[in-house]
Amino acid sequence: MCAIEAGRRGRRVAVLEHTDRLGKKILISGGGRCNFTNLHCRPENFLSSNPHFAKSALARYTPADFIAMVEKHRIPYHEKTLGQLFCDRSARDILGMLEEECTAAGVTVFLGTKIQGVSRADAFVLRAADTEFRAPVLVVATGGLSIPKLGATSLGYDLAKQFGLKIREPWPGLVPLVFNSEDRSRFCDLTGVSTEVVASCDGQQFREKMLITHRGLSGPAILQISSYWQKPRVKVPEPIVIDLAPGSDLTAAFRDPKQSRNLGALRTEFRRVVPNRLADRWLDLHVPLEEKNARTNAWTNSALAELEQRAHTWAITPAGTEGYEKAEVTAGGIDTDELSAKTMESRKIPGLFFIGEVVDVTGQLGGFNFQWAWASGAAAGRAL
Ligand SMILES: Cc1cc2nc3c(=O)[nH]c(=O)nc-3n(C[C@H](O)[C@H](O)[C@H](O)COP(=O)(O)OP(=O)(O)OC[C@H]3O[C@@H](n4cnc5c(N)ncnc54)[C@H](O)[C@@H]3O)c2cc1C
Repeated sequence: MCAIEAGRRGRRVAVLEHTDRLGKKILISGGGRCNFTNLHCRPENFLSSNPHFAKSALARYTPADFIAMVEKHRIPYHEKTLGQLFCDRSARDILGMLEEECTAAGVTVFLGTKIQGVSRADAFVLRAADTEFRAPVLVVATGGLSIPKLGATSLGYDLAKQFGLKIREPWPGLVPLVFNSEDRSRFCDLTGVSTEVVASCDGQQFREKMLITHRGLSGPAILQISSYWQKPRVKVPEPIVIDLAPGSDLTAAFRDPKQSRNLGALRTEFRRVVPNRLADRWLDLHVPLEEKNARTNAWTNSALAELEQRAHTWAITPAGTEGYEKAEVTAGGIDTDELSAKTMESRKIPGLFFIGEVVDVTGQLGGFNFQWAWASGAAAGRAL
């Protein structure tokens, strides 16, 4: 996006890419259909040490701007849910569109170009295996550390360090969580069970599906909350609090003293809201033994209230995450204090720009990370 904007303005642009093709993440994104933006994109959808930083770029290149380009290329798309826009056919449409726009803007792409070092005197000099590139301006768009097998490297962070820019320590975001050993033995045989929950942590909450995997928890609610969990420097990881039955009063029927209050009846009620196997397992683990064995009316109102509350505040402390191998995004990155919010240029090193995921701006799930990549790219491209 940066190359397109700069090329359109008559700049001579070279894109250096070390793999054999551009935009590999675009191709696998959104399950192969690329969730390329979100109609409801707002600064609150981003995680950053400075929540105001992204506002300017996001306001000057909006979802409507990207949609206009998609429509100009006659790419069919649809809204899946919650403002998330996906290609009808394939993510290849989006990559093809960007490549065509690059060509039209006179951008030259150098594939298979591994950068061995960067120096700066009167210009930036990039050394590749058998070539050298010189330019008055260098834009770093190397993304984060997620999915190394697609080409992720630490070059962006290394360059920031080399030029004396501060970095907010990166961590994997939008990533499945791994159970601690106790929870693994309790729940992993329920692999594939999925249910709508509210997952909360660090003042954030997401009401979406949660999925039990053979190692822990995943699904949109968990991916979303994972970005807010276990930030670097948090010594003791907080639990993630899960409301297993959002908006439901599971024990309401039992508060009537005429109702029989036994485990079987309670199971039936839980199973109305929570998938059967999870409902049974959760009750087996959370109902005290004396109440389990009681045949009728042994439950006090306060015992019922406590059970109700526990079902809405189930605390899980994961052992960790699936890490960068599985993370959709890398949170943290180049400290926004180092950059101009309008142009993405380094305040210390004129001519050095950072855009996209390498910057300490991370979107929630739902097309926000691409919108940040487009918007920050456009901001820099217009300033070159
Ligand atoms: C599985 C998956 C699905 C996703 N789905 C979505 C989605 O549907 N919607 C959404 O908004 N976001 C999605 N994302 C996140 C989104 O892909 C990224 O946030 C976005 O691609 C970031 O753009 P970027 O240009 O900053 O970095 P990237 O897209 O990562 O591009 C960085 C480029 O730099 C190249 N590079 C890296 N190191 C070097 C080096 N040393 N030398 C030369 N080149 C280098 C890489 O090969 C790559 O081509 C998904 C991510 C993953 C992993």
